[in-house]
Amino acid sequence: MNITWKLRCVVCQAEYDGLEARYRCACGETLDVVHSFAAPSDRESLTREFDRRLASRHRADRSGVWRFRELVLPIDRDQAITKPEGDTNLYRSERVAEYAGIDDLALKHEGENPTGSFKDRGMTVGVTVARLLGMTRVACASTGNTSASMASYAAQAGMSAYVFIPEGKIALGKLSQALAYGAKTIQVEGNFDRAMLIAEEACRRAGAYLLNSLNPFRLEGQKAVGFELLQSLGWQPPDWIVLPGGNLGNSSAIYKGLAELGDLGLLRHMPKIAVIQAEGANPLYTALIRGSDLVPVERPDTMASAICIGGPVSWRKSLRAVRESGGTVEQVSDQEIMDAKAVVDAAGIGAEPASCATVAGCRKLVARGVIGRVERVVGILTGHLLKDPDATIGYHTGSLDDIRPTFPNAPVRVSGDIDAVLRAMGA
Ligand SMILES: *Cc1c(COP(=O)(O)O)cnc(C)c1O
Ligand SMILES: [Zn+2]
Repeated sequence: MNITWKLRCVVCQAEYDGLEARYRCACGETLDVVHSFAAPSDRESLTREFDRRLASRHRADRSGVWRFRELVLPIDRDQAITKPEGDTNLYRSERVAEYAGIDDLALKHEGENPTGSFKDRGMTVGVTVARLLGMTRVACASTGNTSASMASYAAQAGMSAYVFIPEGKIALGKLSQALAYGAKTIQVEGNFDRAMLIAEEACRRAGAYLLNSLNPFRLEGQKAVGFELLQSLGWQPPDWIVLPGGNLGNSSAIYKGLAELGDLGLLRHMPKIAVIQAEGANPLYTALIRGSDLVPVERPDTMASAICIGGPVSWRKSLRAVRESGGTVEQVSDQEIMDAKAVVDAAGIGAEPASCATVAGCRKLVARGVIGRVERVVGILTGHLLKDPDATIGYHTGSLDDIRPTFPNAPVRVSGDIDAVLRAMGA
């Protein structure tokens, strides 16, 4: 196999071989995958080839990740461990657009990936690399969706999967997936950041391949969210891409992919990237406001468990994405997240709490005059509604601590007689 890419330290620029089970530089910082793309001879030949693959029956071409393999990981398409993933819908809802205060708002629903979150995009690449490295064991620390995704892809590839989860902070839908797909699930005392340290050390000692967002290849797969949304907009970039930020891998990845597309002369302009954090887990927001390095949040706290992270791994890359794209970071309360979720859900779209930070963030940025009503905005919904049924039911029944349901839809109980039923129907 011809390995055309390298790993490079994001801080000291030290370089390493492209295929090595390595996640950090000798200096301790994270690594980027650096490609040596051959610039296409005519500008549009690559995007034409990507469009042509939309009609292919090959699984890798059907994948919303491997369809873009020249820009993700240039390997033979038969080597990819793919389901396939991606190819998610771009929804438009007048109701949600009006709530956000944006005329042209499209929501890309990454919860429609095979295991219900965008994590599948990174995981197909991560597990493919694990196979190329000859690894038979994979592991991750996770607040849920990473573990669900890894467990599924590992099962498909015939590898053993080990999942480290923080105590208490995991949504039921996600935990049930990890167990069901057969991952060895190890609950570690302490928060996510602690589980993350344990996972890294355990991988080193037990010879497993680490598939946290620290893993540079996962970010390569996640770049494809950006490619695919551009493709579905006829390669016309929106003004803004808005998405939730937890470990900050997704925002970093989308920007990296778009910047690479720009270097190839295939991006008309760079969309501004807005990262939305929960107020109780807002270290990137604070770093941007203060113009400082990241100071971890000691006790991150939000109902949006997928973004309940105090010390995000990819903060440098994400801050670069925000600054260089002319974007921003916003924070939203759990109340704002859950109300936005009720609006997204009632539009028939539906998503888990963290995803709806996107819409809550859009609304706030419009109110603050940062996003203009007439700008073209794509919001990313990162995970499926069914991931966290407790949050949804708790909201509608008014049983969540500190959340007042603005748009409740609680089930009603009636006696068995038809008149009572008709009254409940408002008929
Ligand atoms: C992982 C995840 C996030 C956070 O993404 P990062 O890349 O860690 O910033 C947001 N929403 C959902 C549903 C997720 O699974
Ligand atoms: Zn370094």
